[in-house]
Amino acid sequence: MKKDDATRELARITQALQWASDHLTRLDESNAARQLASVVLYTPLTVAVQRAAQAAAKLREYLTELPVDESAQRALAQIVADLDRCPHGRHEGDPCVGWTGPGLYTGGCEGGISLGNPHLKTGDHLGYTYASNPYVMPERGRRNDPEAWKA
Ligand SMILES: [Zn+2]
Repeated sequence: MKKDDATRELARITQALQWASDHLTRLDESNAARQLASVVLYTPLTVAVQRAAQAAAKLREYLTELPVDESAQRALAQIVADLDRCPHGRHEGDPCVGWTGPGLYTGGCEGGISLGNPHLKTGDHLGYTYASNPYVMPERGRRNDPEAWKA
């Protein structure tokens, strides 16, 4: 299991424990109110789940602060940076005379300027974040800004 997968799984565990903790806490408070008790006595199960939820949240915070594998991160960043290249390997808007490798001339983009990725145009939806917000292909001048990829 990779760190990102572990962090994602831990986020699910943390959320489930927090829901259970909130539920058990309200249940104990409801029982105390029904019995007109002046003090809420939390059950050992409620206390255990509250502590587990706090521990999971701390562990998640620790995991997200660990340094990431830089070589893997750079390789992923390169893939994202390549998403706007035309079939001849040039970034959208850059000169494209059609060179695709030693001895391979294919004519390049019409007009000699790269038309970009024919399969992915500005504004196209790429997918969704964990919080279900869409990712979109940003405008040419904003593709180095991670925030521009979020719609
Ligand atoms: Zn091209």
